Amino acid sequence: MQPKIYSLEEHCISPDKIDSHASYVIQKLRQAGYKSYLVGGGVRDLLLNQRPKDFDVSTEAKPEEIRALFRNAILIGRRFRLAHIRFGKKIIEVATFRSGDLETAALIVRDNVWGSEEEDVLRRDFTINGLFYNPENQTVIDYVDGFPDLEKRTLRTIGQPDVRFVQDPVRMIRLLKFCARFNFQIHPLTHEAMLHCRDHIINSSPARILEELLRMLESGSAESFFRLLHQYGLLKLLIAPLAHFIDLDSENRIFKILKIVDDEMRVRFPDLPDRALPLAALCFPIFDLTIRHLAKHSDKTPHLGLIAQEAYQLITNLFSPFFCLPRRLQSAMTFILAAQYRFTPLDNRPIRHPRLPHDEALPLALALFKMRCTLQPELTPLYTLWTEAAFRSTPEQTESTGEPRTKRRRRR
Ligand code: ATP
Ligand code: MG
Repeated sequence: MQPKIYSLEEHCISPDKIDSHASYVIQKLRQAGYKSYLVGGGVRDLLLNQRPKDFDVSTEAKPEEIRALFRNAILIGRRFRLAHIRFGKKIIEVATFRSGDLETAALIVRDNVWGSEEEDVLRRDFTINGLFYNPENQTVIDYVDGFPDLEKRTLRTIGQPDVRFVQDPVRMIRLLKFCARFNFQIHPLTHEAMLHCRDHIINSSPARILEELLRMLESGSAESFFRLLHQYGLLKLLIAPLAHFIDLDSENRIFKILKIVDDEMRVRFPDLPDRALPLAALCFPIFDLTIRHLAKHSDKTPHLGLIAQEAYQLITNLFSPFFCLPRRLQSAMTFILAAQYRFTPLDNRPIRHPRLPHDEALPLALALFKMRCTLQPELTPLYTLWTEAAFRSTPEQTESTGEPRTKRRRRR
């Protein structure tokens, strides 16, 4: 198939917008005789005049050949083997051209069959993600009509949508992610297939879905993404109690807090806070209802230890049926949620001497408290009291919660 080639005058991607490390990787691969392009989300975002989150490279070099060429490369992944080339904190992901089976409606377990550049495009998810950029002559190469789809702001799968969703149901989550992020319309056939295939979502890898959910929580478009996830019935399949809560909550508390999360993430970008913060914020409305219900039906105000136990239990109930949250994330979320009732005690007793818990998640707990103040401005004086105490405190003055002290792991 002959691709459409778009020149600089047509696509208007300014060469200085291309990440210098990605350009270096492509140039070095090309000098060694391997075809290589910039591909996927990076090209899409540049065409939309947005700042790409990452730059991916696609090449005909095999993983071992890539590793031989770059001292700073490591090979990762089993389902999808690729090279990570590290430049300080930055990683350029380099994947070998693959061919995919476009016809068989069965779950893809491994995706490591090498192919041509055209096959590599055809195995990708949506037409807008199937564009190559060649930095050498500054052209965009389009085998799948992704360029006109971007102009029409349309999301369309490459190939038969129902086959593509059954092969990899995570693509349905990705469809809603792009829908939320760019406010694009979904092509009618893709839309129909999505409704038809949604039950397949539970066949997907929980870790991959969790990664997409976490990415969306920090994307600045979490509110519209979770609305879509709920609207299309996927939330019910993945986190049923959350969907149930949304159905019954006339105050729309989940979406209200997600809107505040979005504002916070946009302000903080690119120095995003730990992912435990947006995930705890998502759980807070249900947790608050649970704790207030518990307090109402107990003789004594629940103490902080019990509240922490409830937080842990709630997180397990919400996520465990399908997901397996990393322990570090779960314990940070437990702390963030439970700390809210230290900041604003259930019995409304006045706080004269704030006793700060000693935990590295304290700034995250205060950040959730700040979000609550946006919804309930009357909490602001208490927030000021606690933040001033945190500012003054030294580790000796703080009180240990007995929580395990864990280090945050680096993530991409
Ligand atoms: P983001 O901006 O969130 O990074 P992205 O589209 O770049 O979005 P990545 O996960 O970085 O998402 O994937 C890079 C590219 O790999 C995509 O643009 C797409 O071409 C391809 N891809 C990713 N996931 C799939 C999938 N499940 N099926 C087919 N192709 C995929
Ligand atoms: Mg990407």
